Amino acid sequence: MFNLDLQLKKIIIKSPLLKPLIEWVEFVPTSKVDSASTNGRIIHYNPEALAICDESEQQFTIVHELMHIALEHMERQQGRDQFAFNYACDAVINQMIKKFGIPIPKGCVDCPDAEGLSAEEYYEIVINSPNYEELKKKYEGSIAKIFITPHTDWGKSFGNDKSKPTNIPTNEKEFAKKNKELKDKLADEYINSLLNGDSKEAGHDMNEEVNHELGDIGDPTTFANWQDLLLYQVNKSKASFDFFNGEYDAEGIWNYPYHRIRKKQAEVEILIDTSYSVSDDLVRAFLREVKSLVGNAKIKIGCFNEVFDGFAEIKDDNDIENFTIKTRGGTDFEVAVKSFESPTSTKIVFTDGYAPDPKSFCEAIWIVYSTAKINPPGGFVYNVDEKKILNQGRTI
Ligand SMILES: [Zn+2]
Repeated sequence: MFNLDLQLKKIIIKSPLLKPLIEWVEFVPTSKVDSASTNGRIIHYNPEALAICDESEQQFTIVHELMHIALEHMERQQGRDQFAFNYACDAVINQMIKKFGIPIPKGCVDCPDAEGLSAEEYYEIVINSPNYEELKKKYEGSIAKIFITPHTDWGKSFGNDKSKPTNIPTNEKEFAKKNKELKDKLADEYINSLLNGDSKEAGHDMNEEVNHELGDIGDPTTFANWQDLLLYQVNKSKASFDFFNGEYDAEGIWNYPYHRIRKKQAEVEILIDTSYSVSDDLVRAFLREVKSLVGNAKIKIGCFNEVFDGFAEIKDDNDIENFTIKTRGGTDFEVAVKSFESPTSTKIVFTDGYAPDPKSFCEAIWIVYSTAKINPPGGFVYNVDEKKILNQGRTI
């Protein structure tokens, strides 16, 4: 789900200095961009692509574009090398965004040494780096077209009806300083308003905004049932961030995005504990429920007891109906957590829970069809009612 309004509110809490800019910028949904892009006046964003990202990735994408506009990066390139300057701008603003409290998604420019520098200062480091050509090659490998034209077109389509707010510093250091001051001031006001029992007056609608922030959806530890967690993990693994260079749009205006959201097929790996309490019917019912939840994600299933017997893919209902447990024996959870193959898959262990906890860390969803208590390192444990699974399976 992507709710632009809600995310903008959360962004204002994290970077209150952007508020007047957010009110000035035009946000236009389109499927023509991969994630989001800007020409300095309009932010085009792809709601469908953003919907499969988690909240912090959504916020990062929007803030990244806002920061290019706020800091007027397109006007500041002057005669500098385009790639090095774009890279420097991204490096500097991404560190600033991290300081706002929004993590940098995997795959986006993340240069800790850019922290606290201006785009021009970091440009000097990039352009003089002995690894510059290598860096350029790495990021230009995926570029379809390279346009080298000046940024004189920037501003062409802005129109004269509105002008950019002038109370936002266009210098990185000043921006960071002023933003932090404003954030501290608003936090103080808010705390004081709570202490004085007058939450309405101070901090305008901060109360509501802070509630939004505290109620962050998408925290995997808060899901009440395994079905929601499974869906969350599968949806999250459908997207990843990729690099690509900016490009000129039809009007000749430079678009600035450096990251694209790549869609992937999600994969679910299921391990079945073949201790004596499990029946073929129970596993089949469970598989039917998983399949109905995850749609066209790839599902792999394997059985384990003290050994693991390998994965097989579940492609359709026939594969589910044909599933049988071949060997049975004692349960070793350590074997299970070491048998998962893919680093990015959603991992499930289906078990009666009667065995010692594994030692290795594994972010699996443990579905325990008994009241047995287990505490595997890194996992999410859900005790479920065996009868409910059997019934659920039959109704699908
Ligand atoms: Zn950028």
